[in-house]
Amino acid sequence: MRIGDYVENINRACDKEGKPLSPITKSGFLSGVRRFFRDCQEWEWIPRKFSPERALATPRSVQALIKPNPKVIADDIWAKLLWAGLNLTGEDLPDNKICHSYTYPLKLVQAVAITWLFAGVRNNEIVRLRTGCIRWQKDDVIIPGTSEVVSKDAICYLEIPVNKTSPGYTKPVDKALGEAVEIWEKIRPKQQPLLDKKDGSFVDFLFMYRGKKIGQGFINDSIIPILCKKAGVPTKDVKGNITSHRARSTIATQLSTSKDPMTLLELKDWLGHSHLSSTISYTKVTPTKLAKSYQDAEYFKRNIRTVEVLIDQDAITTGAVTNGEPWKYYDLGHGLCTYDFFSQCKHRMACAGCGFYIPKGSSKAQIIEAKGNLERMLQEIPLTEDEQFAVEEGIEALTKLKEKLADVPTPSGKTPRQLEEEINNA
Ligand code: SF4
Repeated sequence: MRIGDYVENINRACDKEGKPLSPITKSGFLSGVRRFFRDCQEWEWIPRKFSPERALATPRSVQALIKPNPKVIADDIWAKLLWAGLNLTGEDLPDNKICHSYTYPLKLVQAVAITWLFAGVRNNEIVRLRTGCIRWQKDDVIIPGTSEVVSKDAICYLEIPVNKTSPGYTKPVDKALGEAVEIWEKIRPKQQPLLDKKDGSFVDFLFMYRGKKIGQGFINDSIIPILCKKAGVPTKDVKGNITSHRARSTIATQLSTSKDPMTLLELKDWLGHSHLSSTISYTKVTPTKLAKSYQDAEYFKRNIRTVEVLIDQDAITTGAVTNGEPWKYYDLGHGLCTYDFFSQCKHRMACAGCGFYIPKGSSKAQIIEAKGNLERMLQEIPLTEDEQFAVEEGIEALTKLKEKLADVPTPSGKTPRQLEEEINNA
């Protein structure tokens, strides 16, 4: 089955027509058919010969494709929308064709825009906010058990009415929101309370004008186009149209991935979610943050180390190299290694001090280092797993590495154990 199949009105313009159904639609159709047969069985229209739940279950392959997909607005576009919301003027409001002025007062539009941009609440909750929903903190508050202080001017509290999954709750919001709402409340005309269908009570809706509250589509159809026009950004991006719910996803993602992020439980409370699983979908790490973390982890650097190499140009120009004289010295810190294939030496991390070794304190090493014709360069060497461990874990791991290599011959032919015995006997 594809989009548009079995649709009666074939003239309906739909650019998705003929494309495969989305997983969520497949699941929805199966759920409808399940319910149909279950009802038929319960009303005894058909015998209970099979279980609709099992026979018509949504396949796991379809379920796996259904996942929450918060459509976060890109940071640069969001920043422009914030600027537009904070700087909205009368000239930004479109003219009503009948009365040549916008239907709603500027202060109401500003307050709705700022609520959408800062509160991170559902569209339905913005529409149903009540007068007096802003509460200011009168004094500085010390957070219990800490010495941290929440300044009385930093934030205010927004009372959210009961919503689809949880009872009403209070959330801290930016003071810009509180100020915009208070300005509108001061000039809001007195109007008859209206019925809130959610809880059956008569209330004074905050965003109400001429006896009517703003509609459910006010933010999507009016506020967002006004802000996009002012900000000079399109009303849709790669993820689709900019809609009221995308502000909630964007704010939640920014709060969870900022430098000093909110914890998952704090974010759950702030968003008014009943279940943590709903909040987790908002905590997606942004690709740029992931890139930064990856960079900080220094995965590549972890696996390589840089050593300084001294090149004796005298030895090269005088032709001493052809006589087998060393010309390249790997600086080991405690001494110099003259082995050309240093990078392949198994002992390079715990140098056994073979015949290729020149101790730093020796007069030969001092002469080499004093040479004016010496060129210094850096060489990166990839580390084996044991060496990496020795670098990260310190002396204990290094000692283990030494023990492991005690009987492995050095490039000069002798093993570290033999070399040590020679030193001890000398
Ligand atoms: S054991 Fe010899 S070859 Fe290996 S790093 Fe030490 S001096 Fe160089």
